[in-house]
Amino acid sequence: MKTSDSVIDYIQAKGERLTVPRRLVIEALGQSHEHLTIGNIQQHIQEDHHDHLLSDTTVYRVLQWLKELGLVSQTDMGQTGTVYALMSNPHHHHLICLTCGATITLEDELFTPLRGQLLRDYGFEARIDHMAIYGQCRNCLNRKSKPE
Ligand SMILES: [Zn+2]
Ligand SMILES: [Zn+2]
Repeated sequence: MKTSDSVIDYIQAKGERLTVPRRLVIEALGQSHEHLTIGNIQQHIQEDHHDHLLSDTTVYRVLQWLKELGLVSQTDMGQTGTVYALMSNPHHHHLICLTCGATITLEDELFTPLRGQLLRDYGFEARIDHMAIYGQCRNCLNRKSKPE
């Protein structure tokens, strides 16, 4: 997991402007080891800085800017909603069960062959930041195949 300080250093080295909302969003993301929704980010900021209430739109814009810089991943996690996280090292991904909502974390290595093949066959360098793959978990599959 990247720290907010390393992200801020990177942004300043790139000559990007670090406004107050940008800094607050980065700090909120850096504090948490979880993926955060926009609502979670607003909550974190309000807890730490009572005078700063950032609107949904402001937080969303900052997140899109961080995503373009390759610093933040954005993933639709189904029931949980869209979540954001500082790009972790190594990357990871999720399997999400559509029936019970269970999530399983995947190692990034699983996608190495896919990245290689996309580059070889399509000349395309895929940026697979943080994937959510939907389906049925083992428990739900078992329950379906042998009803009680
Ligand atoms: Zn994740
Ligand atoms: Zn399930």
